Amino acid sequence: MLLLEDSSAEAEQLVAWLSPHFRIDHATSVAGVRRLLAENAYDIGLIDLCVEDSRDLATFLAVQALAPDLPLVVQSGLQDDAIAIEAVARGAQDYLVKRSFTAELVRRALRYAMERAGGERELRDSRERYQLALAGARDGIWDWDVRSGRFVVSERWCSMLGLAPSEFGSDVEDWLLLVHPEERDAVWQALQMHLVGRTAHFEVEHRITHRTEGWTWVRSRGLSVRDNSGRVTRIAGSQSDVNERRAFEAQLLQRATTDDLTGLANRPAFLARLQKAADLAEASPEANFALLFLDLDRFKVVNDSLGHQVGDRLLLAVAQRLWASARPSDLVARLGGDEFAILAEPIEGRRAAEELAARIHRTLAAPFTLDENQVFATVSIGVVTCSGGAGAAEELLRNADIAMYRSKRAGRGGTEVYSEAHFTAVAGRLEVETGLRLAIATGGLTLQYQPIVRIPSAELVGFEALARWTTPEGRVVEPSEFIPVAEETGLIEPLGAWVMEEACARMASLAVARPETRRLAISVNVSSRQFAHGDLFALVQRVLAKTGLAAERLVLELTETALMENPEKATEVLTQVRALGVRVHLDDFGIGYSSLSYLQRFPIDSLKIDRSFTQGIPGRPGDEAIVRAILSLAGALNLEVVAEGVESAAQLEHLAGLRCSFGQGFLFSRPIDGPALDGMIARGFLPPTAGMQPFAGVAEG
Ligand code: C2E
Ligand code: MG
Ligand code: MG
Repeated sequence: MLLLEDSSAEAEQLVAWLSPHFRIDHATSVAGVRRLLAENAYDIGLIDLCVEDSRDLATFLAVQALAPDLPLVVQSGLQDDAIAIEAVARGAQDYLVKRSFTAELVRRALRYAMERAGGERELRDSRERYQLALAGARDGIWDWDVRSGRFVVSERWCSMLGLAPSEFGSDVEDWLLLVHPEERDAVWQALQMHLVGRTAHFEVEHRITHRTEGWTWVRSRGLSVRDNSGRVTRIAGSQSDVNERRAFEAQLLQRATTDDLTGLANRPAFLARLQKAADLAEASPEANFALLFLDLDRFKVVNDSLGHQVGDRLLLAVAQRLWASARPSDLVARLGGDEFAILAEPIEGRRAAEELAARIHRTLAAPFTLDENQVFATVSIGVVTCSGGAGAAEELLRNADIAMYRSKRAGRGGTEVYSEAHFTAVAGRLEVETGLRLAIATGGLTLQYQPIVRIPSAELVGFEALARWTTPEGRVVEPSEFIPVAEETGLIEPLGAWVMEEACARMASLAVARPETRRLAISVNVSSRQFAHGDLFALVQRVLAKTGLAAERLVLELTETALMENPEKATEVLTQVRALGVRVHLDDFGIGYSSLSYLQRFPIDSLKIDRSFTQGIPGRPGDEAIVRAILSLAGALNLEVVAEGVESAAQLEHLAGLRCSFGQGFLFSRPIDGPALDGMIARGFLPPTAGMQPFAGVAEG
């Protein structure tokens, strides 16, 4: 307690009375009070108005100014009651008349004063907190008195709508009129539901008019207050701005439905729209649409030779042209990679769909200029037209894909319209894929072996293993049909591994039964994709270890394309496998890049002249010249040469004349299966067609 009292007798008296209850600091002047306040904090002040340096109300005001929060009780003498009352009016908690002092009275007066002051402070604090909260809150506040209909809102509530507080009425109707007509019923209904106690709280997200900015999205929430009989008397609540959140959600939706690179719809968004169109067609026979599946031709070449950035820009440019050639009502999408799709809706039948495809081919015909490069891009298009009973979106897309694949096989830059016939033929890429997957898992693959012989002696030096796929229906599928699909789908890796292991195992076990075969080589084809993605070195090591075949007997046949895709890696891997003793042949030589400078760099053992050249000799001068050039080049680089596709004696003679050392072809033997191979060995290496050959057999080399 701070005690201001200049009479020492009175001060002593008060200290005696109060010291059991208060710790007391005593001053005799306002100046003394200032000194004490500088160092201490007090809960209560008891002040005499007539002190050494001040009198009357001035004393009270001076102390109040020094400690605005300190509750003060004023003591008044006989004559100055009026002043004491004035002090209370100015904020003193109480006044005590000196003549009626008793210890108990003073103590109680001080206690009450302190309690009152505390309560007031709390109230003031909470009121301030509330005001601060309202002013600082991003939310607007509203309060609806249900009985009177009065609807009171905070300043912030108004400013959220661009209104000054005076511009808003005071009725619940005034509020509802501002709510967007489309959501007004919902807001009113939600209020009613809460009023009758069907919902725990009121909450609706709705648009509300903003004075200058049109519609703005808010969320209104509220809670009812009930009287003793349980009737709702008020609902009070908040209004929050949800525009930002909604914009963010819209952005997320946008991101989830568009393709990053091109800004076109992505696959899920396209499938969703397609499903809607299909459902519509199912329901009403007049509805019709067409689905176009587009695949860029030779996009990989652009990507590989000019780089991914140019590839991306080509995709973007193609997307723009596709978008421009579609109608506003059509949906253009990028399904992934170099695949696009267009949903044309509505469209009048097959003719119109084909015209759209023709228009697309025309718009893509002009070259694309990317940096200094002029790039030509064509697409293969598969079309599915629909009216009535369309089925599932996935299925439609698959059919369009099948038609596209057909078109691609018929030559690039074309259009094929899907028909049921496509589906039943085993031409469907997807069907090939599924069947192939099954074949790898269930032993549907087999190998055939084609002899490779020395020229001109026709001495057998080895076999090339060639994969065959027999479908469960018994159809034998050619590698030309399934190897590209296996490459595209990645199935080439398990397939290639199986081929290598199967071929090596057969040769190794044959060498045990028939030691005379122990020098025969086995050539295995390794596709580009398998070379690029798989770990060829590890595969070779594993297979050799598992089968026990001598490394010198294994030949890997690779194409130039495979090596050129990544020359550094190719050189490294080839060096590794050759260090094991494995040999490497360059397959189909002459039809790829035929980059002679690279040829010199790659650690290889032989070239296999593509059979298209062999077939041209003798007779076609161009082919003769090429074969001659390849042979002299190989001689200079110290490489062996195998001529593929030797079908006639004339060809063989010519090759022998050019000093080509090895040959392979129907003339010597067609590819034969395992048992036939055993038979050939049993006959002393005589090919099955040996009778018509210019040579009788082969000796061990
Ligand atoms: P390739 O490696 O050039 O195989 C030689 C192809 O020429 C074989 O066709 C063979 O049957 C055929 N052929 C051999 N001699 C003659 C002939 O005198 N005249 C004619 N017209 N053709 C002849 P096939 O078995 O249809 O294989 C085609 C291609 O499929 C192979 O070409 C090879 O690139 C690929 N391939 C086959 N098996 C596999 C495999 O296991 N893995 C990989 N990655 N590719 C394989
Ligand atoms: Mg080959
Ligand atoms: Mg070949």
